[in-house]
Amino acid sequence: MQFKSLSVKELKDMYEVVSLEYDRIAAQGAKLDISRGKPCREQLDLSVGIFDALKPEDVFSEPDYRNYGMIDGIPELKKIICDCIGVKNDQLIVAGNASLNLMYDTIQRLMQFGLRGNTPWNKCENIKFLCPVPGYDRHFAITELFGIEMISIPMDENGPDVDIIEDYVRNDASVKGMWCVPKYSNPTGIVYSDQVVKKLARMKTAAPDFVIMWDNAYFVHDLGVDYPLLDILAECRAAGTDGRVFEFGSTSKITFPGAGIAFVASSEDNIAWMKKLMGYQTIGPDKLVQLAHARFLQSPEHIKEHMRKHAAIMAPKFNYLLQTFEDTFGKDCDVFRWIKPKGGYFISVNVYNGCAKRVVQLCKNAGLTLTGAGATFPLKHDDNDSNLRIAPSYATLDDLHKAAPLLMVCVKKAVLEKLLAENK
Ligand code: PMP
Repeated sequence: MQFKSLSVKELKDMYEVVSLEYDRIAAQGAKLDISRGKPCREQLDLSVGIFDALKPEDVFSEPDYRNYGMIDGIPELKKIICDCIGVKNDQLIVAGNASLNLMYDTIQRLMQFGLRGNTPWNKCENIKFLCPVPGYDRHFAITELFGIEMISIPMDENGPDVDIIEDYVRNDASVKGMWCVPKYSNPTGIVYSDQVVKKLARMKTAAPDFVIMWDNAYFVHDLGVDYPLLDILAECRAAGTDGRVFEFGSTSKITFPGAGIAFVASSEDNIAWMKKLMGYQTIGPDKLVQLAHARFLQSPEHIKEHMRKHAAIMAPKFNYLLQTFEDTFGKDCDVFRWIKPKGGYFISVNVYNGCAKRVVQLCKNAGLTLTGAGATFPLKHDDNDSNLRIAPSYATLDDLHKAAPLLMVCVKKAVLEKLLAENK
């Protein structure tokens, strides 16, 4: 459906109908939320078996996992994760809950201590990070907190624009790194193409301590079909850029976001550097949670099997929303576009420029919470005021049946208001 070619009369007629519909739905006083990418209760229930995974003989055996030590994680769990992401034991640290914690600590260490003998970033003037957009708000919040200038990089279905990236990193030594969510990206759900991964691994960088924060948060989180991602650590090794990438991940959306394990993988040298600095912060992770995860998750194949159950819960929610989008706006609409996600937790939508904030406000007034407009951009600033991040996971399908029509009406109302104002 095309909106921009409608006459003023058509716009006005449609606006009248849509406004009545909006008022009718808003009067129902709904309380709905599709703002954050949290697993729903049914998904959390898939992992309750983890509480039975620890047997007394496991816990009392040698080494005694109730005690201090093993700063880089227990061997059983390290083996499973090494097999999942294709790294060696010395290239991996398995820590406690939350990969975001590991990412924050990595930036903090780069700021304060410097990597491989390079000047700590807080002693460099005006350092910069490349930020593919739309992206993950908490990444941008970390770089903002440390005063790192952020440069937005456009993305398409193959990943970020590597030609623009190459230009920046080749010519500007103050560009120290970039954020990436390479598989089932937050929020677009795309997977970086092999070409993009190879270029990121091979490109020449003016900064010797340029790092790629490879946040592989959704490495096994497909919606029923796995779309493979090229192994960037192996590509870097082959290209002689070993140490460029820090890869992160966690079980937050495999088992429990509040009681899982997280990991970081990189070159052996980088991991040794990290382990040394971690030694000042902790004497070791929660090894009982790690052991329970090792027993429960068992192997890469078993994790895949477990994730199929997650996909069976998630896919109908995604499919319902995507179908509603298509039924409402058609496949090719000039004011409402979306990318069909291959996996992950989000759907990224672009509404007519200048309408995203208004959509969020209209939804809020009618009882539907969306992620704030702009959240997917550095400093929460979307120049086009166009991108919306939809998170279908936490709501029930019943709630989505109420939320989706409301969202559609709010988009139409916001767009028609804007088009009418422009056509005065
Ligand atoms: N990275 C991305 C891209 C995410 O979407 C999320 C959760 N929304 C996280 C990291 C957080 O992961 P964790 O729970 O391991 O800190």
